Order: sequence, then C-alpha cells, then structure tokens
Amino acid sequence: MTVAQRLGRFLLAPFKPTLRVVEVQEPKEGAAEQMVLTARDQARLKGCAPALITKVDQVLTALSAVGVTMFVTEGLRSTERQQALYAQGRTAPGDRVTNCDGVVLKSNHQAHDSDGFGHAVDLAFAGADPYAEAHPWTLYGLLAEQVGLKWGGRWTSPHDRPHVELP
Ligand SMILES: [Zn+2]
Repeated sequence: MTVAQRLGRFLLAPFKPTLRVVEVQEPKEGAAEQMVLTARDQARLKGCAPALITKVDQVLTALSAVGVTMFVTEGLRSTERQQALYAQGRTAPGDRVTNCDGVVLKSNHQAHDSDGFGHAVDLAFAGADPYAEAHPWTLYGLLAEQVGLKWGGRWTSPHDRPHVELP
C-alpha cells in the first residue's frame, strides 16, 4: 500500500457509513394467525381465491397502520344472490348495483370457472356509517391497486368504491 493509498484510507475513514444489521423477517409458519382479518372477515372470505384474501389482508394491514379499520361485507356470491342483485333497479326496488346477471354475464364475486374461487370482495369502513363520503375511499383504492387489485372506484357504471378484485 502506497502512502497516498494509506492517506486516502485515513481521510475516507470518517465518511464510511455505519453499517446496520437489518433483520429480515421470513414468513413464519401459521402466518395466517398474524392476519388483521377478523373472524367475521375470514368467514365472509370463505370461497375466495387465496391470493385475493392475502391482498385484502395487506390492504387492511396498511390501513390499520394509519388507524383506519375496514371490514369485509361480501365475498363469494351464489348465482341466486347475483340474480337478486341484478334484479335490483330493474324488476325489484332499489338502485342498480351491477351489470352482471349472474348467468350470461357472471360477476367476479361468483365462483370462477378457472379455479372455483370468488375473485372479488367488497369492503366498508368500521363505524356508524360504513359508506360515508368522509371515509378515505381513495386511500383504500390506491392501497388496493398498490397490492395489485383492481378497484371498482375507477369505474363509472356502476361506480363501485367498496369493490376490489383480482386482475
Ligand atoms: Zn363487489
């Protein structure tokens, strides 16, 4: 080592960044137990694609970090349930909430032909008025998109803010 190199080392020494040991957490066995999903959420997610459940949990975990609590209102739908929703605003009272008749045009809430799982979930905010405008719907939608879900808040007909689904 030359004198110049020694000098260089000496001069650079104080500027060396301090190395920190970052502990990388491996996914643990029984990771499902760490979910923020409540027992009711998990019951309502029964029949939904595992990938969808994981993503919903990620969204709810991120929201809980900023003090926002959402819950699952609906996951997998039967054909009958979808038909009843389709009738709403057509042959039954209420506003139209879906364009999917459940047979010709299936909803992503119905079991997919590909894997037999539901691919869509609806969520709402905990509290007295789960669908109030004041809730951070956009934050929810952006987080859902961040984990790779499609958000119904992007749609215009129907504008479906509670809805997320696998792409
Ligand atoms: Zn939905």
